[in-house]
Amino acid sequence: MTTARKLVIAIDGPAGSGKSTIAARLAKKLGYVNLESGAMYRALALKAMERQISLDDGEALQQLAASTVIDLEPRGEGNRVLLDGRDVSQRVRDADVTAAASRVSIHPPVREIMVQRQRALGLGGGVVMEGRDIGTAVFPNADVKIFLDAEESVRAERRIVQSGLRSAEDTQRVIAELAARDQRDRTRSASPLVAAPDAVHVDTTHKSIDDVVAEVEGLVRRVVSD
Ligand code: C5P
Repeated sequence: MTTARKLVIAIDGPAGSGKSTIAARLAKKLGYVNLESGAMYRALALKAMERQISLDDGEALQQLAASTVIDLEPRGEGNRVLLDGRDVSQRVRDADVTAAASRVSIHPPVREIMVQRQRALGLGGGVVMEGRDIGTAVFPNADVKIFLDAEESVRAERRIVQSGLRSAEDTQRVIAELAARDQRDRTRSASPLVAAPDAVHVDTTHKSIDDVVAEVEGLVRRVVSD
């Protein structure tokens, strides 16, 4: 499917709801770029950890964010992440950085900087951006807004499969980490994870990736034909 006008498509939802996969597939179908906004928080968190900056120090993190260059390079599946020119695509997916990202992202001044940069990336349209606040804060006027969700046990299961972990302890740890991150993302005061009032809710619990992509493509088609 091609679109005459280059749309902005916002996909939000909790961890493990399928955002990255769906955003990548949809972008490919439309000839758009997919941008993982969470990777920016992850990259900043990594730099803070390396410099031993407290994840609770909003002011220091704001300064760090302002002096840090984070580039997202869309690829077939997911983004290549460059932190001050260094490829950290793998490292930012590790559990310690994942947990740190959700702590870094609670600080409003940090969010302001990130949101500004994310808006600049989507300026020309032709983007599928996924995250937690894309439809509410980054692109409140997005052409299409989707809120993906799935039952917590299924989201945790997807993470476990992705990480290749097997032991019962690892499984319990992944479930606990996912729940803690969700709780932090949903209850923070600045741009909490919440569906935009005009977002279309898609529950991916019992759906295949292909089904979800088809459903979301249908929503885009409707906007295009309006
Ligand atoms: O999407 P991803 O799991 O990579 O996001 C990592 C963390 O970054 C999230 O847990 C959340 O705290 C934060 N985030 C955010 N706003 C976004 C995207 C991610 O606060 N738009």
